[in-house]
Amino acid sequence: QYLLAGLPDRKPDPLLALLKKFASNERLDKIDLGVGVYRDGTGRTPVMAAVKSAEHHLWETQDTKSYIGPEGDPSFVSLLTHEVFGEGTVTEKLAGVQTPGGTAALRLSAEILAHDKDRTIWIGTPTWANHNAIFGTVGLSIKTYRFFDPRSQAVHVDEMLSAFESAQSGDAILLHASCHNPTGAAISKEAWSAIAEVVARKGLIPLFDNAYQGLGRGFVQDAEGMLIVLNAADEAIVAISCSKSFSLYRERTGAAFVLGNSATDLNKGVANFAYHARASYSMPPAHGAAIVAAVLGDPGRRKLWIDELASMRSRVSEIRTALADRLSIYAPRLSAVAGQEGMFSLLPVTPENVTHLREVHGIYMPDSGRVNLAGLRIEQVDLASQAIGELL
Ligand code: PMP
Repeated sequence: QYLLAGLPDRKPDPLLALLKKFASNERLDKIDLGVGVYRDGTGRTPVMAAVKSAEHHLWETQDTKSYIGPEGDPSFVSLLTHEVFGEGTVTEKLAGVQTPGGTAALRLSAEILAHDKDRTIWIGTPTWANHNAIFGTVGLSIKTYRFFDPRSQAVHVDEMLSAFESAQSGDAILLHASCHNPTGAAISKEAWSAIAEVVARKGLIPLFDNAYQGLGRGFVQDAEGMLIVLNAADEAIVAISCSKSFSLYRERTGAAFVLGNSATDLNKGVANFAYHARASYSMPPAHGAAIVAAVLGDPGRRKLWIDELASMRSRVSEIRTALADRLSIYAPRLSAVAGQEGMFSLLPVTPENVTHLREVHGIYMPDSGRVNLAGLRIEQVDLASQAIGELL
C-alpha cells in the first residue's frame, strides 16, 4: 500500500486561493473583501504601536529563550483572564492555558470534549469553516442548527433555542462570543439570557469562540452576552484568539479556558489541555503572549492599546454604516447590515454574482458572499455598493 496515493484529495483553503488570485490581478482599483484581517484606511494591517512598544521592551529585558511548558506563560493567562472576563464571580471559576492562536484553543477544547465519544457538539450555520474540520477531526458528532439566513438577514434565535432544547445533558454548544464570523449577526441581551436559561436547565456545555473581542461594540461590551451565559453555566469552555484584538495574527497567540465548580475540576481541565498540547505542538510560541502580557501589564501600553483598538473599531463601524446605507437603496433588507458587528457581513449573492464582481469590477470575495468591511476604504463604498447593489 502506498502512503501518499491513499491520502484524500485536499483543496487549498478557498480564502487563500482567493488571495493568490487577488495578488495576480494588476488592476489598480481592485478591492479585497476576502481575507479576514483588519485593514486601516490605507489598506494595510499595521503592527499596533502598543505591540511595537512591548516588543522593544522585550528585546531589552528578555534574558532567556528556555522552555516554558505546555501551559505557556501564567502571567499572560492571568492578565488576559482579568481583561476579558473582568472581576466578577466567573473569573474565580476559570482556569486556562496559553495556546498557539484561537485555532489551537479550539482544538484543545475539542480534544477534551471528545474524551466522551458519545458527546455531540451543536454548531450554528453558517459558521467559520474551520469549526467543522476541528470538531470533526477529533471524532465528535456534529449537529447543526440554522442561525442566520443571508436572504432575509434574519437571526433565528428561535431555531437555536429549540435545537438546544432537543440536546442531551452534557452536549456542547458552540457560540461565537461576538462579531459572528461570517455573518456579523448580533443577538440581544434577552436572547443571551434565554440561552443561559436553557444551558443551566439542561446541563449543556457552552463553548465560546471569542476571536474578535473589541471589534464590535467595545472590548467590555463584546463580552457581555458570553458572561450572561457563563454566569449561568455549571461548566463551560472559552477559546480566545489575540490575532485580531492585538493584530498579532502570525505570532499565534491565544488561550483556552475551562469554567468549573472546584479547584480540583479546574486543575483536571488544565492538565488535560496540557496533555493534548504536549501530544501535538508541545508548547506554545512565547513571543505573542509575552507581547500581550507586556501590554496588559503596563498601564501606559494598555491605554495605548485600548485607544488603538477603539479606532480600529470605529473605522469598521463607519464603513458598515455607509455600506448598509448605500446597499439598502438596492435591497431594503440590507439595512440590517448596520445593526451587525465586527468585520464581517454575509451578502445574499450567488457564486455567479461573485465571479461577476471579480471579473468586471475587480471586487474579490469568497463564493459565500462573506465580506470583510475592513477591506474597503471609505471612498470606495459608493463604487462597491453600486456594483454589488445592481446584482441584488
Ligand atoms: N475563530 C474564528 C471565528 C475565526 O474567525 C478565527 C480566525 N479566522 C479563529 C477562531 C482563529 O484565529 P487564530 O487561530 O488565527 O487566532
